[in-house]
Amino acid sequence: MSNVTVCVRFRPLSHKERKANADNVCFRKLDSESFVFKDEREDDVVFSFDKVFYEDAQQSDVYNFLAVPIVSDAINGINGTIITYGQTGAGKTYSMEGPSILHCNEQKTGLVQRVVDELFICLRSSAGTWTVKLSMVEIYLEKVRDLLDLSKDNLQIKESKTQGIYIAGATEISILNSSDALENLSQGIANRAVGETQMNLASSRSHCLYIFSVQHGSTSDERVKMGKIILVDLAGSEKVEKTGAEGRVLDEAKTINKSLSALGNVINALTTGKQNHVPFRDSKLTRILQDALGGNSRAALLCCCSPSPSNAPESLSTLRFGTRTKLIKASPKSIPE
Ligand code: ADP
Repeated sequence: MSNVTVCVRFRPLSHKERKANADNVCFRKLDSESFVFKDEREDDVVFSFDKVFYEDAQQSDVYNFLAVPIVSDAINGINGTIITYGQTGAGKTYSMEGPSILHCNEQKTGLVQRVVDELFICLRSSAGTWTVKLSMVEIYLEKVRDLLDLSKDNLQIKESKTQGIYIAGATEISILNSSDALENLSQGIANRAVGETQMNLASSRSHCLYIFSVQHGSTSDERVKMGKIILVDLAGSEKVEKTGAEGRVLDEAKTINKSLSALGNVINALTTGKQNHVPFRDSKLTRILQDALGGNSRAALLCCCSPSPSNAPESLSTLRFGTRTKLIKASPKSIPE
């Protein structure tokens, strides 16, 4: 059994892709878990995952498969993480936020808002007391920036017995309902844009983390359970050369790729039996994700791909990353029942 649920999502062809390649796509669907990947430079390859979402998949399909178990676990004190991975333009942010977190019809609502809605529905219907807190941070060039308070631009990651790994000093806002959450999330997203303009940075070059901390006290046994949900919209995974970057921008791109390659190294170590030497400390990103990937929480990876043959090399690299991640094995004590 894998420790991480790994899914693939092919977004619909964009207008530009359709213009360049008509309706051609880089895969042939086999079933809801596998497809043949066609790359003209290489032989066809069959890929299998826990689930494949093709172009016509709805946001609710992705949510129901990936997030529902994570939300119910969080209420029972088990941490959960959902990560979107893929090249820029592959549909990571669309899957997380929808086309826009504020102005979005119900059908297009992304994972973040759906997680919040479901959290409150579950908590309200349960007996006992609860609190939900939201933090939002961005990792850029190995600095963790607080998106709910831009004056905190270099947060440190710490570990404690009670909290596990956490971001020290990150703003935590108590949220009471969905609209409260939406207001704060949109503030965080707006802050991200402000910071990016100040730093002349495109959002595709930073990792964005939405963190929901849930405390749920059951009236029956009076135990307080603490669960955390971390949603991670990763920076674009494309090769630096493809971005045409130079100078400072090239250095930045290399550092960003470094944290993604640190993630790749962590996954390699976890899948090749080198569990004693997993380099979680090599980047801020992997350190924050240590609990998620190291085994004491539920984790899901959504590999986002363009369906266009013109993006086949990047899509192939994303699919290979997903395949490796699927090989992470759960240690028997770590997987929640
Ligand atoms: P990324 O975050 O990976 O850089 P985006 O999520 O911004 O990519 O997606 C790129 C473009 O494709 C956006 O215009 C987005 O609205 C569109 N898009 C992505 N996924 C879908 C989808 N499943 N359905 C419709 N449009 C999508």
